[in-house]
Amino acid sequence: MTTDTLTRTANVILLGPPGVGKGTQAQILVDTLGMVQLSTGDMLREAKASGSEMGKRVAEVMARGDLVTDEIVIGLIEEKLTQSRDAAGFIFDGFPRTLAQADALEALMTKTGQSLDAAIELQVDDAILVDRIVGRAEQARAAGQPVRADDNEDSLKIRLMEYYKKTSPLVGYYHAKGILKGVNGMGAIDTIASDLAAIVKTASA
Ligand code: ADP
Repeated sequence: MTTDTLTRTANVILLGPPGVGKGTQAQILVDTLGMVQLSTGDMLREAKASGSEMGKRVAEVMARGDLVTDEIVIGLIEEKLTQSRDAAGFIFDGFPRTLAQADALEALMTKTGQSLDAAIELQVDDAILVDRIVGRAEQARAAGQPVRADDNEDSLKIRLMEYYKKTSPLVGYYHAKGILKGVNGMGAIDTIASDLAAIVKTASA
């Protein structure tokens, strides 16, 4: 994969329900454009694996498919944003997930002298999400790899409901702010990746 350079920093949010492919696409943007991925899901799984007090507290909430408190995830993001500044910009993956988190992110960006350039909604049909996530768990099981505690049908139902109740209002929020973009998330991974890269490049021009 070639590494392109961006003219200036572009900070983007990837929005979309569980299983839509945010993590996969964020990784491609990291590899191709040198961006920095900030995934609250990964940060929380790391906290769980580390056995820290906070990790223990969030593990059960995550396994059920519920959202972790705004306070915890905002704290995690604040730590990263104040520690690192990257020339190619940040990809927020799985954050913000509530309007309170969106407001907190905006305040943090202002505080650190940065801005948000685009909120990109990855759009897919729900039926595909269930198939992808159940498929991901089956593949991991077949390969003898660990299966995410929340990749089962019961948790997935809750994760989808949490998304529609608490996160999907952010689509309207970023539309009102004039930075919302939509990308069809049902095509080939490469096609989606080039659609996303085009938006990021425009945002950084
Ligand atoms: P998904 O594949 O469902 O998008 P993630 O890996 O982003 O999952 O997150 C897994 C779980 O971690 C969520 O279901 C939730 O419990 C917790 N989590 C991640 N990010 C946030 C957030 N911004 N706010 C609250 N909880 C979060």
